Amino acid sequence: MKSVTIIGGGVGGLFTGAILAKEGWKVTILEKNATVGGGLQSFRRFSEVFDTGMHVVGGMNPGGNIYRLCQYLGIDSKVNIHQVDSSCMDRIWFDEDGACYEIASGRDGFVSSLASCFPSQKEALVRYVQALERLSGEVDLFNLRPSNTLFPKHSDEFFMPASAFISKYISDRRLRAVVAYLNPFYGGRPDYTPAYVHVIISWLYIMGASRFAGGSGSFADLLAGVVTSSGGVVSKGDAVSQIIMDGKEITGVVTESGKRYNSDYYISAIHPCTLLGLLPPTAFTKAYRDRLNGLPNSYSAFLLFLKLKEDTFPYINTSEYFMTRYDDVWNFSREDKPWPLGFLFMTPPEVNQGPYSTKALVTAPMLYSAVSRWENTTTGRRGPQYEAFKQECASSLLAMIEKIHPGFRDVVEEMNTSSPLTIRDYYGVKEGSICGFSKDCNNILESQLPVVTKIPNLLLTGQNNNLHGFCGTALTAISTAEVLTGRNSIVTQL
Ligand SMILES: Cc1cc2nc3c(=O)[nH]c(=O)nc-3n(C[C@H](O)[C@H](O)[C@H](O)COP(=O)(O)OP(=O)(O)OC[C@H]3O[C@@H](n4cnc5c(N)ncnc54)[C@H](O)[C@@H]3O)c2cc1C
Repeated sequence: MKSVTIIGGGVGGLFTGAILAKEGWKVTILEKNATVGGGLQSFRRFSEVFDTGMHVVGGMNPGGNIYRLCQYLGIDSKVNIHQVDSSCMDRIWFDEDGACYEIASGRDGFVSSLASCFPSQKEALVRYVQALERLSGEVDLFNLRPSNTLFPKHSDEFFMPASAFISKYISDRRLRAVVAYLNPFYGGRPDYTPAYVHVIISWLYIMGASRFAGGSGSFADLLAGVVTSSGGVVSKGDAVSQIIMDGKEITGVVTESGKRYNSDYYISAIHPCTLLGLLPPTAFTKAYRDRLNGLPNSYSAFLLFLKLKEDTFPYINTSEYFMTRYDDVWNFSREDKPWPLGFLFMTPPEVNQGPYSTKALVTAPMLYSAVSRWENTTTGRRGPQYEAFKQECASSLLAMIEKIHPGFRDVVEEMNTSSPLTIRDYYGVKEGSICGFSKDCNNILESQLPVVTKIPNLLLTGQNNNLHGFCGTALTAISTAEVLTGRNSIVTQL
């Protein structure tokens, strides 16, 4: 039986490990935190379960690409998933003029819901949605189609800047901003983020957005269960501290507690810059290391985890986005802008969700530079100025939430916050980046990292290789696993 050791038990590590375990490999997953999951981890605070990073996911409606992957893994019937309201999956407020837009899911729902606010743009919206579908159709893996080429051909639109792609179809200034509302949550930058990133994420959610009920951590446990029930090992609370090489190949990894793990293959499911720090400096050329260390990362976020007073606030089955100004939808990466420029507000569902919510979650994109003055501190020891900074950020966000839910402050019972430093230290990700390396349409080859490396028994997986997020990372897990199991060997089973 061939063996593989996976460094990092996050979304990418768990999906890759589960697929390989299913294919008969002996899998060992090494996770630094006390719980597995990475972006899927949940934590308990104020007697509530909160999700750290997986709030809205795509591809999990029956027939969806990740749902089919779950069927293959045999866990589909055990997943606690909650579909969001299809007649209003997302609601977007703009403070600039007080307008509120409601977006329905499905091709027709998306067009008609927005056309009701922008009647003169109805034909433009139809063409825009057709373009989303056409461009998403170019990606074999996204559509779970076997691929026969290493270098797939793409249309010119695929790699154009996402901002220009939107402008090509939509002429109304406000509607351009409305359809770009997800942009700040995937780290989008104008004239930089490729159209395909915007296209795939938008199309994914138009086809159906879901939430994990009762916490995303139980989904991480299901994936870990696929590994352990096949005889594999999932080790928690012991970070990999060193990768040992002999000549050109890896011969083992060592954890902080001094344990050594040897296998035929190794897969890095951590941020590539973190991986470089574990390898001997001679493992890769200086040019490769400089390239990885020089790639810009997507920005980070500040989060509020709120426990609400009992039976005071409704469960809202819609994700709510608040933006300050239309033109700022593309400006979240700018240092000269005030904070916050916007946020996502949501009430995460329980397994048996009643009419009221016991908790709410707020995610506001934030630049790492906002907290970099405390970057040499550790969790719980960042000092009173940092605590005051977080308190000020929380107050700003609560003041903005009052605009969409007047009286909201009064229903908050307890509050916990996390900053880009929390994300950096929790996931071990450079600069607390929420989506890993930024994709650059001006230099696609530089920002696309292949899953194979020049070390013959080292592969990569995770959000930095292709696309980030639950769906992107799960699909990359298929690519990584197929390097070991054979081209198209997994996809043809889905
Ligand atoms: C705040 C936030 C909100 C988000 N919201 C969404 C959302 O709503 N929907 C969505 O689809 N995506 C969302 N994302 C993005 C999503 O979480 C990521 O794209 C996804 O988790 C990336 O998976 P990954 O496997 O590459 O990394 P991760 O899931 O981060 O996993 C990396 C794992 O490696 C471990 N690790 C690091 N160093 C070591 C080491 N030395 N030894 C052992 N283990 C190590 C970490 O502890 C972690 O568990 C969000 C991200 C954040 C931060």
